[in-house]
Amino acid sequence: MRLAGKVAIISGAASGMGAATARKFAREGAKVVIADVLEREGRQIGDAIGASARFEPLDVTKEESWAAVVAATTRHFGKLDVLVNNAGISGSAEQDFYSTEAWHRIMAVNATGVFFGIKHAIPAMIANGGGSIVNLSSIAGIIGSEHVHMAYNASKAAVRLMTKSVAVQHAKDKIRANSVHPGVMPPMRTSGRTADPAVRTERMRVIPMRRPGEVDEVAYAILFLASDESSYITGSEIHVDGGAIAI
Ligand code: NAD
Repeated sequence: MRLAGKVAIISGAASGMGAATARKFAREGAKVVIADVLEREGRQIGDAIGASARFEPLDVTKEESWAAVVAATTRHFGKLDVLVNNAGISGSAEQDFYSTEAWHRIMAVNATGVFFGIKHAIPAMIANGGGSIVNLSSIAGIIGSEHVHMAYNASKAAVRLMTKSVAVQHAKDKIRANSVHPGVMPPMRTSGRTADPAVRTERMRVIPMRRPGEVDEVAYAILFLASDESSYITGSEIHVDGGAIAI
């Protein structure tokens, strides 16, 4: 099994790509902490996986919430090997373009939330002799997007560079950090206009593979980066986008 004996925290694992990743990690031998603001959905995912999964309530924007999740993980499973910073929200350019509130809300979850996760995971990983951090950015962290609030682009670009910063600064601690950049996937819970079928059809025209991605296609990339199969890969990024930004 590809993650045998490893302990992982996945933020935002009550839904979408986080839930798919949690299922894959457990199947590959990991103990998984499903951490999310959505308690009912998160517990359901955990119950379906079974004894190798555990739900912990987490609001990524609250530093004390991250501290509690990391503490609960090491208390129950003995250590921390893998952190997947997956929780994220979107925001609509059409409705919120000038909204300062949207800027702060999106940056708090997508950028500050990732910083808090990294900050609290690293000491636990150092205590364990190393680890792997996988951060969910987006192709929107590399190129601009027509329909999302600019904070989404800015926050995902921040995730991309925080990842490289951690890779450089913590290689000495045997901690690797890499980012994953999905393209058009099943819509997020907070997708605005990008969830519109007409917009999605339009976007397919500029994707060489002419189809949206599936959550498992992202989960496989995360699995590879979490596992020792990627032991010499750090500060790197994988685009899971059907070739969207290769053009
Ligand atoms: P989703 O909306 O299905 O899931 C996001 C999860 O994050 C939810 O379970 C939600 O409850 C959780 N979350 C939101 N705010 C939180 C908070 N404050 N604290 C803890 N958890 C919180 O979205 P998804 O499509 O599975 O996206 C997963 C990641 O991939 C996100 O970071 C997203 O930005 C990124 N992404 C998604 C797409 C896409 O098209 N779906 C494309 C590129 C990147």
